[in-house]
Amino acid sequence: MIAKTQIQMVDLHGQYLKIKDEIDAGIAQVINTCSFVGGPAVNNFCRALETYLGVKHVIGCANGTDALHIALMALNLQPGDEVITASHTFVATAEAIALLGLKPVFVDVDPNTFTLNPDAVERAITHKTRCIMPVHIYGQSAHMEPLLQLASRYNLYVVEDNAQAIGASYRHTNGTTQKTGTLGHIGCTSFYPSKNLGCYGDGGAMFTNNDELAEKMRLIANHGQRTKYDSTLIGVNSRLDALQAVVLLAKLKHLDEYNRQRQQAAAFYDRAFANHPLLAIPYRAPYSTHVFHQYTLIVKGNRNALKDALQEHGIPTMIYYPIPVHLQQAYLQYGYAQGSLPVTEQLAQQVISLPIHTEMDEQQLHFITQTVMQLAEQV
Ligand SMILES: *Cc1c(COP(=O)(O)O)cnc(C)c1O
Repeated sequence: MIAKTQIQMVDLHGQYLKIKDEIDAGIAQVINTCSFVGGPAVNNFCRALETYLGVKHVIGCANGTDALHIALMALNLQPGDEVITASHTFVATAEAIALLGLKPVFVDVDPNTFTLNPDAVERAITHKTRCIMPVHIYGQSAHMEPLLQLASRYNLYVVEDNAQAIGASYRHTNGTTQKTGTLGHIGCTSFYPSKNLGCYGDGGAMFTNNDELAEKMRLIANHGQRTKYDSTLIGVNSRLDALQAVVLLAKLKHLDEYNRQRQQAAAFYDRAFANHPLLAIPYRAPYSTHVFHQYTLIVKGNRNALKDALQEHGIPTMIYYPIPVHLQQAYLQYGYAQGSLPVTEQLAQQVISLPIHTEMDEQQLHFITQTVMQLAEQV
């Protein structure tokens, strides 16, 4: 029996101990130079991330929500313009749209991948649609090729919410691959501590290959100032700080290894649950790698009872997300009722995410899988 305190949804401390010397030295150096906001550390990290992603511009900002907000600000959309997105997501995606007076148009997701259903997206396009915002939920890419085709046919922007999928690759029909977040006009990410590439506080970034959009996002993130104290655009204050940048630079070197460790844990789970009558393992899209920000099962039995029983056995789980965005109180004003997005609404009742992180060992995985299978039959 494993002590209850040992199993966590994420283990950031264990991960830190393995790169402690590098992190501590980087932090000490920032403090010595007193260059806390922007400066060489942020520059180094953004250039390293550009190389890793194969994208022309990475622009740091204060968090992933701001990244989405700044990306939409850069597109010059007008109040009332429509942005098509998923409701099966963290609220930040829709919040960025709503805060700008734009209209979030929620469409259903594919029941296998949990990402935007391209046919549903096409049906939702009107003369007011300006942008599609796919969410690469749980660590796997949305089906980008059909979405990009729609965008070019209807002259729409594509802004990717890549907060959960950094390091994942999309494979085009012609065999070429690109990192998620670099396929649309802009990609946005979060460096929240528990993300696959997380810092030790808040952080985020926008990615783009478009020079004009890059310049505009740089300005917007810094009060719209091209020269100090002379704003050319109305902007915001959203900066990545140097202490976070040194943590991120140290962890970026290990990102592929971190994602591999998550994939190994996922493979262990898959083997255990593959033939279970009450559990469905995560689907693997043929066009994407999966970096398992979350390992999310569909429970065909009593999901909530299973969650409670696992908790009693010392196994934490999470529901991402218990209420779809279109049914949350703040978003009811957009006019969606229960039943409008059946796949999304069913997922909210059936999903459960198991612990997955870089520090899991076989003993933990064995204990979790045995307990889940035993309890799934009982509840
Ligand atoms: C984490 C997350 C965000 C927001 O990131 P913050 O840094 O917490 O603001 C946005 N979208 C998705 C899908 C996320 O998972």
